[in-house]
Amino acid sequence: MKRISILIVLLTAVLAATATTYTVDQVPNVHLADRNRYVSNPDGILSPEAAAGIDSSLKSVWDATSAEVVVVAIDDISPDTDIDRFATDLFSSWGIGKKDKDNGLLLLIVKDQRKAVIRTGYGMEGTVPDILAGKIIRHAMAPRFREGDYDGGTVEAVSQLAQAITSPEAREELMSKYANDADAGQDEPDLFALFLIWAGVLTLIILILFIREVVSTRRMDRFDRYQKLDRLSVPTLIITFLALGAPLIVYIPLRLMLRRLRREKRMCPNCGHSMNLVDEEHDNFYLTPAQDTEERINSVDYDVWLCQQCGETDILPYVNKSSSYTVCPVCHARACTLRTDRIIAQPTTVTEGYGIKEYECHNCRNRTQKRYNIAKLAAPVVIAGGGGRLGGGGGFSGGSFGGGMTGGGGASGGW
Ligand SMILES: [Zn+2]
Ligand SMILES: [Zn+2]
Repeated sequence: MKRISILIVLLTAVLAATATTYTVDQVPNVHLADRNRYVSNPDGILSPEAAAGIDSSLKSVWDATSAEVVVVAIDDISPDTDIDRFATDLFSSWGIGKKDKDNGLLLLIVKDQRKAVIRTGYGMEGTVPDILAGKIIRHAMAPRFREGDYDGGTVEAVSQLAQAITSPEAREELMSKYANDADAGQDEPDLFALFLIWAGVLTLIILILFIREVVSTRRMDRFDRYQKLDRLSVPTLIITFLALGAPLIVYIPLRLMLRRLRREKRMCPNCGHSMNLVDEEHDNFYLTPAQDTEERINSVDYDVWLCQQCGETDILPYVNKSSSYTVCPVCHARACTLRTDRIIAQPTTVTEGYGIKEYECHNCRNRTQKRYNIAKLAAPVVIAGGGGRLGGGGGFSGGSFGGGMTGGGGASGGW
């Protein structure tokens, strides 16, 4: 006798363990994997035939009205969860219904609790009012479920819901402007508009800066004006990339203007006669060895202007902005490059570290050392697990719900 009771206890335990309890995140979203499926039936409460029939009927509803009706039949939910709360959470988590019309509906059946819930989206409340939802649970589902006929009760409930939703007036009210399976997570037209505004604002800012600089420098010496305007080149180029090309309407005139400024005839500061630009092959004759080195390593480009009348020269340096050479502290040529970079003391969480960079000048061969500090290490941070949601991509035939919301409308009832 005692043995039998132990056996019964064990058997009950095994049965309890096989009945699956679900949290909202654990309910399989079958529509994500296959856009033609609307019935999540992981415990086989509904027969495959009944589930297939309901899928096809809900697909017709979806095609005709864009309304998203979903059936979930599961053994049980965690004991500390209220079924009404569970239905609302599941509805919101999946985003059932299109977001403009909130035309979603969830029919949740929790077999072991002998309870069912119909949860409607905001836009569905007129078509399936709470009274109708309650009636469907009490009259279509409960009597059949009591007999163990889950197929019959669910098929009848879905049929009555489909009838209400596909009526011409309801269809007009529920039809979304969004296509079925349009991914609700991304609102591309709005993003694009935002981007256009952003690009427009950036272009306008750089245009105003450009005009201001052109006006404020118009009385300056050509060379000084060139230097002043050239400071805009790099920012304008960066903004051109950020705003996908629109600021080219500033960048191109800026470059043309710089080129014109550099080539414009200069007057001799000594005799007032016009000067000529000496070509690159012959200008070395007028340059110092340091300037010659700079031209050779392409860190500075020199324009040499020569007066034919009195022999006066005007030497104008144009620094190459894309060159990494720095100015030598000894000979002042822009000819220093980094030779070595050594870390002498590693930083810890309590002390800074430091390193030494050694530069060598290509003109005078002098080597300079520069000490730099390295910031303290940050104290280790424990990154708490943030319940990230997995998956959601779905197969190539997968669909997605439209991001609809519910205000908790609908009804629940037992059997
Ligand atoms: Zn002259
Ligand atoms: Zn040097």
